[in-house]
Amino acid sequence: MRVAFIGLGDIGSLMAVHLAREPFALTVWNRTESKAREFAASHSARVATSPRDAVRGAEVIVTCLPSSAEVEAILHGEQGMIDSLERGSVLLDCTSGDPPTSRSIAAELSARGVSFIDAPVSGGTVAAKSGSLTIMWGGDKADFERARPVVEAFGKKIVHAGPVGAGDALKAVNNALLAVHILATGEGLAMLVKAGVDPGVALEVINASSGRSNTSENLIPQRVLTRAFPRTFRLALLDKDIGIAEALGAELGMDTPVLSLAAKRMHEARAALGEDADHVEAVKMIEAENDVVIR
Ligand code: NDP
Repeated sequence: MRVAFIGLGDIGSLMAVHLAREPFALTVWNRTESKAREFAASHSARVATSPRDAVRGAEVIVTCLPSSAEVEAILHGEQGMIDSLERGSVLLDCTSGDPPTSRSIAAELSARGVSFIDAPVSGGTVAAKSGSLTIMWGGDKADFERARPVVEAFGKKIVHAGPVGAGDALKAVNNALLAVHILATGEGLAMLVKAGVDPGVALEVINASSGRSNTSENLIPQRVLTRAFPRTFRLALLDKDIGIAEALGAELGMDTPVLSLAAKRMHEARAALGEDADHVEAVKMIEAENDVVIR
Protein backbone atom coordinates (compact mmCIF):
# COMPACT_ATOMS: atom_id res chain seq x y z
CA MET A 1 0.00 0.00 0.00
CA ARG A 2 1.44 3.38 -1.03
CA VAL A 3 1.44 5.78 1.91
CA ALA A 4 2.60 9.38 2.24
CA PHE A 5 3.39 10.75 5.70
CA ILE A 6 3.56 14.51 6.20
CA GLY A 7 4.88 15.99 9.45
CA LEU A 8 7.76 14.24 11.20
CA GLY A 9 7.47 16.07 14.54
CA ASP A 10 7.71 14.73 18.10
CA ILE A 11 4.91 12.21 17.57
CA GLY A 12 4.66 12.02 13.76
CA SER A 13 8.23 10.75 13.40
CA LEU A 14 7.46 7.87 15.80
CA MET A 15 4.20 6.99 14.04
CA ALA A 16 5.83 6.97 10.60
CA VAL A 17 8.35 4.33 11.73
CA HIS A 18 5.53 1.74 11.77
CA LEU A 19 4.81 2.47 8.11
CA ALA A 20 8.40 2.15 6.92
CA ARG A 21 8.00 -1.59 6.28
CA GLU A 22 5.97 -4.13 4.28
CA PRO A 23 3.19 -4.02 3.20
CA PHE A 24 3.64 -0.26 2.97
CA ALA A 25 5.71 1.76 0.50
CA LEU A 26 6.35 4.98 2.40
CA THR A 27 7.09 8.50 1.20
CA VAL A 28 7.79 11.20 3.79
CA TRP A 29 7.77 14.98 3.64
CA ASN A 30 8.73 17.40 6.39
CA ARG A 31 8.96 21.19 6.27
CA THR A 32 12.49 21.05 7.69
CA GLU A 33 13.93 18.70 5.10
CA SER A 34 16.88 17.56 7.21
CA LYS A 35 14.46 15.70 9.52
CA ALA A 36 13.01 13.79 6.59
CA ARG A 37 16.50 12.91 5.35
CA GLU A 38 17.50 11.78 8.84
CA PHE A 39 14.37 9.61 8.98
CA ALA A 40 15.06 8.03 5.59
CA ALA A 41 18.68 7.35 6.53
CA SER A 42 17.53 4.83 9.12
CA HIS A 43 14.12 3.73 7.79
CA SER A 44 12.81 2.53 4.46
CA ALA A 45 11.24 5.66 2.98
CA ARG A 46 11.48 7.96 -0.01
CA VAL A 47 11.95 11.67 0.77
CA ALA A 48 9.57 13.86 -1.22
CA THR A 49 10.56 17.32 -2.35
CA SER A 50 7.16 18.92 -1.59
CA PRO A 51 3.69 18.01 -0.30
CA ARG A 52 2.61 17.86 -3.95
CA ASP A 53 5.37 15.38 -4.76
CA ALA A 54 4.68 13.34 -1.60
CA VAL A 55 1.06 12.51 -2.35
CA ARG A 56 1.41 11.62 -6.02
CA GLY A 57 0.25 8.00 -6.34
CA ALA A 58 -0.44 7.62 -2.61
CA GLU A 59 -3.50 5.61 -1.58
CA VAL A 60 -3.42 6.92 2.00
CA ILE A 61 -1.95 10.26 3.06
CA VAL A 62 -1.27 10.78 6.76
CA THR A 63 -0.87 14.33 8.05
CA CYS A 64 0.40 15.01 11.57
CA LEU A 65 0.79 18.77 11.90
CA PRO A 66 0.33 21.22 14.79
CA SER A 67 -3.19 22.35 13.87
CA SER A 68 -5.75 22.35 11.07
CA ALA A 69 -4.32 25.66 9.82
CA GLU A 70 -1.10 23.88 8.78
CA VAL A 71 -3.13 21.11 7.11
CA GLU A 72 -4.89 23.82 5.07
CA ALA A 73 -1.49 25.35 4.31
CA ILE A 74 0.00 22.16 2.89
CA LEU A 75 -3.12 21.59 0.84
CA HIS A 76 -3.22 25.05 -0.70
CA GLY A 77 0.21 26.58 -0.11
CA GLU A 78 3.16 26.65 -2.46
CA GLN A 79 3.65 23.16 -3.92
CA GLY A 80 0.51 22.17 -2.01
CA MET A 81 -0.99 18.73 -2.39
CA ILE A 82 -4.50 19.61 -3.52
CA ASP A 83 -3.99 19.06 -7.26
CA SER A 84 -1.99 15.89 -6.99
CA LEU A 85 -4.22 13.93 -4.61
CA GLU A 86 -5.45 10.82 -6.45
CA ARG A 87 -9.19 10.23 -6.80
CA GLY A 88 -10.10 7.40 -4.43
CA SER A 89 -7.31 8.21 -1.96
CA VAL A 90 -7.89 8.87 1.74
CA LEU A 91 -6.45 11.81 3.68
CA LEU A 92 -6.09 10.54 7.24
CA ASP A 93 -5.47 13.63 9.35
CA CYS A 94 -3.83 12.65 12.64
CA THR A 95 -3.41 16.28 13.63
CA SER A 96 -5.39 17.27 16.74
CA GLY A 97 -7.37 19.60 14.54
CA ASP A 98 -10.52 21.68 14.85
CA PRO A 99 -13.92 20.41 13.74
CA PRO A 100 -15.00 23.34 11.50
CA THR A 101 -11.77 23.28 9.46
CA SER A 102 -11.89 19.48 9.18
CA ARG A 103 -15.47 19.64 7.91
CA SER A 104 -14.57 22.27 5.34
CA ILE A 105 -11.52 20.31 4.11
CA ALA A 106 -13.65 17.14 3.91
CA ALA A 107 -16.27 18.91 1.77
CA GLU A 108 -13.64 20.34 -0.57
CA LEU A 109 -11.89 16.98 -1.01
CA SER A 110 -15.14 15.10 -1.44
CA ALA A 111 -15.87 17.16 -4.56
CA ARG A 112 -12.58 15.82 -5.96
CA GLY A 113 -13.30 12.18 -5.10
CA VAL A 114 -10.87 12.20 -2.14
CA SER A 115 -11.97 11.06 1.32
CA PHE A 116 -11.09 12.78 4.57
CA ILE A 117 -10.94 11.24 8.03
CA ASP A 118 -10.01 13.24 11.14
CA ALA A 119 -8.05 10.78 13.24
CA PRO A 120 -6.35 12.42 16.21
CA VAL A 121 -4.31 10.18 18.47
CA SER A 122 -3.69 9.86 22.19
CA GLY A 123 -1.18 7.97 24.31
CA GLY A 124 1.76 10.30 23.70
CA THR A 125 5.21 9.45 22.42
CA VAL A 126 5.40 6.25 24.51
CA ALA A 127 2.37 4.70 22.78
CA ALA A 128 3.51 6.08 19.42
CA LYS A 129 6.80 4.25 19.81
CA SER A 130 5.17 0.93 20.70
CA GLY A 131 2.46 1.28 18.03
CA SER A 132 -0.31 1.28 20.63
CA LEU A 133 -1.89 4.71 20.22
CA THR A 134 -5.58 5.31 20.77
CA ILE A 135 -7.21 6.69 17.61
CA MET A 136 -10.51 8.58 17.72
CA TRP A 137 -11.77 9.10 14.21
CA GLY A 138 -14.54 10.97 12.48
CA GLY A 139 -15.91 10.23 9.04
CA ASP A 140 -17.44 7.63 6.81
CA LYS A 141 -16.97 3.96 7.73
CA ALA A 142 -16.26 2.74 4.20
CA ASP A 143 -13.62 5.47 3.76
CA PHE A 144 -12.03 4.49 7.04
CA GLU A 145 -11.82 0.82 6.07
CA ARG A 146 -9.54 1.79 3.16
CA ALA A 147 -7.14 3.45 5.61
CA ARG A 148 -7.52 0.85 8.38
CA PRO A 149 -4.22 -1.03 7.71
CA VAL A 150 -2.34 2.25 8.20
CA VAL A 151 -4.20 3.08 11.41
CA GLU A 152 -3.64 -0.43 12.78
CA ALA A 153 0.10 -0.09 12.16
CA PHE A 154 0.39 2.56 14.90
CA GLY A 155 -2.93 2.26 16.75
CA LYS A 156 -4.35 -0.22 19.21
CA LYS A 157 -7.64 1.18 20.49
CA ILE A 158 -9.47 2.48 17.43
CA VAL A 159 -12.79 4.21 18.05
CA HIS A 160 -15.32 5.74 15.67
CA ALA A 161 -16.40 9.03 17.26
CA GLY A 162 -19.00 10.07 14.64
CA PRO A 163 -19.05 12.20 11.47
CA VAL A 164 -16.06 14.26 10.26
CA GLY A 165 -14.95 16.57 13.09
CA ALA A 166 -16.11 14.25 15.88
CA GLY A 167 -12.60 12.87 16.39
CA ASP A 168 -11.23 16.40 16.71
CA ALA A 169 -13.97 17.34 19.18
CA LEU A 170 -13.29 14.31 21.36
CA LYS A 171 -9.55 14.92 21.31
CA ALA A 172 -9.98 18.59 22.25
CA VAL A 173 -12.15 17.72 25.24
CA ASN A 174 -9.75 14.98 26.37
CA ASN A 175 -6.87 17.42 26.24
CA ALA A 176 -8.88 20.14 27.98
CA LEU A 177 -9.24 17.65 30.83
CA LEU A 178 -5.49 17.02 30.73
CA ALA A 179 -4.89 20.77 31.03
CA VAL A 180 -7.30 21.01 33.97
CA HIS A 181 -5.58 18.08 35.69
CA ILE A 182 -2.10 19.55 35.27
CA LEU A 183 -3.16 22.98 36.55
CA ALA A 184 -5.28 21.71 39.42
CA THR A 185 -2.79 19.06 40.55
CA GLY A 186 0.02 21.61 40.31
CA GLU A 187 -1.89 24.08 42.50
CA GLY A 188 -2.85 21.38 44.99
CA LEU A 189 0.68 20.07 45.37
CA ALA A 190 2.17 23.58 45.60
CA MET A 191 -0.27 24.22 48.43
CA LEU A 192 0.68 21.01 50.22
CA VAL A 193 4.41 21.68 49.92
CA LYS A 194 3.85 25.14 51.42
CA ALA A 195 1.82 23.48 54.18
CA GLY A 196 4.82 21.27 54.97
CA VAL A 197 3.65 18.02 53.33
CA ASP A 198 6.21 16.07 51.31
CA PRO A 199 4.87 15.89 47.70
CA GLY A 200 5.86 12.21 47.41
CA VAL A 201 3.74 11.46 50.48
CA ALA A 202 0.92 13.59 49.10
CA LEU A 203 0.95 11.67 45.82
CA GLU A 204 1.03 8.33 47.63
CA VAL A 205 -2.29 9.26 49.23
CA ILE A 206 -3.87 11.04 46.24
CA ASN A 207 -3.00 8.12 43.97
CA ALA A 208 -4.78 5.73 46.34
CA SER A 209 -7.71 8.13 46.56
CA SER A 210 -10.30 9.91 44.43
CA GLY A 211 -8.10 12.85 43.40
CA ARG A 212 -5.86 10.71 41.20
CA SER A 213 -5.41 11.06 37.44
CA ASN A 214 -2.79 10.21 34.84
CA THR A 215 -1.22 13.53 35.80
CA SER A 216 -0.86 12.55 39.46
CA GLU A 217 0.02 8.91 38.76
CA ASN A 218 2.56 9.42 35.98
CA LEU A 219 3.32 12.96 34.85
CA ILE A 220 4.06 14.59 38.20
CA PRO A 221 6.11 11.74 39.74
CA GLN A 222 8.13 11.10 36.57
CA ARG A 223 8.63 14.66 35.38
CA VAL A 224 8.07 17.22 38.15
CA LEU A 225 9.39 15.50 41.28
CA THR A 226 12.46 14.39 39.33
CA ARG A 227 12.75 17.87 37.72
CA ALA A 228 13.37 16.02 34.42
CA PHE A 229 10.61 17.79 32.41
CA PRO A 230 11.33 15.91 29.13
CA ARG A 231 9.88 17.48 25.97
CA THR A 232 7.31 15.03 24.56
CA PHE A 233 4.29 17.22 23.86
CA ARG A 234 4.66 20.96 23.52
CA LEU A 235 2.70 23.19 25.89
CA ALA A 236 1.83 25.34 22.87
CA LEU A 237 -0.07 22.37 21.41
CA LEU A 238 -1.99 21.77 24.63
CA ASP A 239 -2.85 25.46 24.67
CA LYS A 240 -4.13 25.05 21.08
CA ASP A 241 -6.20 22.01 22.11
CA ILE A 242 -7.94 23.66 25.04
CA GLY A 243 -8.64 26.63 22.76
CA ILE A 244 -10.37 24.24 20.34
CA ALA A 245 -12.48 22.85 23.20
CA GLU A 246 -13.39 26.36 24.32
CA ALA A 247 -14.42 27.31 20.77
CA LEU A 248 -16.50 24.14 20.52
CA GLY A 249 -18.36 25.07 23.71
CA ALA A 250 -19.00 28.57 22.34
CA GLU A 251 -20.18 27.16 19.00
CA LEU A 252 -22.69 25.04 20.93
CA GLY A 253 -23.89 28.05 22.92
CA MET A 254 -22.49 26.72 26.19
CA ASP A 255 -21.00 28.54 29.13
CA THR A 256 -17.83 26.65 30.18
CA PRO A 257 -16.29 28.66 33.07
CA VAL A 258 -13.94 25.93 34.37
CA LEU A 259 -12.59 25.19 30.93
CA SER A 260 -12.28 28.88 30.07
CA LEU A 261 -10.25 29.60 33.18
CA ALA A 262 -7.96 26.63 32.45
CA ALA A 263 -7.58 27.91 28.87
CA LYS A 264 -6.63 31.37 30.16
CA ARG A 265 -4.02 29.83 32.48
CA MET A 266 -2.59 27.70 29.64
CA HIS A 267 -2.27 30.82 27.45
CA GLU A 268 -0.40 32.51 30.31
CA ALA A 269 1.88 29.48 30.74
CA ARG A 270 2.64 29.48 27.01
CA ALA A 271 3.44 33.19 27.08
CA ALA A 272 5.71 32.72 30.09
CA LEU A 273 7.48 29.51 29.05
CA GLY A 274 7.64 29.79 25.27
CA GLU A 275 6.87 27.68 22.21
CA ASP A 276 9.34 24.88 22.95
CA ALA A 277 8.34 24.12 26.55
CA ASP A 278 6.76 20.77 27.39
CA HIS A 279 3.13 20.76 28.57
CA VAL A 280 3.98 19.59 32.09
CA GLU A 281 6.17 22.67 32.52
CA ALA A 282 2.93 24.61 33.14
CA VAL A 283 3.54 23.53 36.75
CA LYS A 284 6.64 25.76 36.74
CA MET A 285 4.39 28.80 36.30
CA ILE A 286 2.44 27.85 39.43
CA GLU A 287 5.69 27.24 41.32
CA ALA A 288 7.10 30.63 40.30
CA GLU A 289 3.91 32.46 41.24
CA ASN A 290 3.92 30.86 44.68
CA ASP A 291 7.64 30.77 45.33
CA VAL A 292 7.65 27.02 45.89
CA VAL A 293 9.26 24.01 44.19
CA ILE A 294 7.42 20.68 44.05
CA ARG A 295 10.13 18.11 44.67
P1 NDP B 1 5.64 19.03 16.72
O1 NDP B 1 5.48 20.46 17.02
O2 NDP B 1 6.70 18.25 17.36
O3 NDP B 1 5.79 18.81 15.12
C1 NDP B 1 4.99 19.50 14.23
C2 NDP B 1 5.25 19.03 12.81
O4 NDP B 1 4.53 19.89 11.92
C3 NDP B 1 6.72 19.13 12.39
O5 NDP B 1 6.97 18.13 11.45
C4 NDP B 1 6.76 20.52 11.73
O6 NDP B 1 7.79 20.66 10.80
C5 NDP B 1 5.44 20.53 11.02
N1 NDP B 1 4.98 21.87 10.74
C6 NDP B 1 4.79 22.90 11.60
N2 NDP B 1 4.34 23.99 10.95
C7 NDP B 1 4.26 23.65 9.64
C8 NDP B 1 3.86 24.35 8.46
N3 NDP B 1 3.44 25.62 8.51
N4 NDP B 1 3.90 23.69 7.30
C9 NDP B 1 4.31 22.41 7.22
N5 NDP B 1 4.70 21.68 8.30
C10 NDP B 1 4.67 22.31 9.49
O7 NDP B 1 4.19 18.37 17.00
P2 NDP B 1 3.85 16.87 17.45
O8 NDP B 1 4.47 15.91 16.52
O9 NDP B 1 4.06 16.73 18.92
O10 NDP B 1 2.25 16.91 17.24
C11 NDP B 1 1.63 16.77 15.98
C12 NDP B 1 0.12 16.72 16.22
O11 NDP B 1 -0.18 15.60 17.08
C13 NDP B 1 -0.42 17.96 16.95
O12 NDP B 1 -1.69 18.28 16.48
C14 NDP B 1 -0.47 17.51 18.41
O13 NDP B 1 -1.44 18.26 19.14
C15 NDP B 1 -0.83 16.04 18.26
N6 NDP B 1 -0.43 15.16 19.36
C16 NDP B 1 0.84 15.18 19.88
C17 NDP B 1 1.19 14.33 20.93
C18 NDP B 1 2.56 14.28 21.52
O14 NDP B 1 2.73 13.55 22.53
N7 NDP B 1 3.56 14.99 21.01
C19 NDP B 1 0.18 13.43 21.53
C20 NDP B 1 -1.09 13.43 20.86
C21 NDP B 1 -1.39 14.29 19.84
P3 NDP B 1 9.26 21.18 11.21
O15 NDP B 1 10.03 19.95 11.54
O16 NDP B 1 9.74 21.89 10.02
O17 NDP B 1 9.09 22.10 12.41
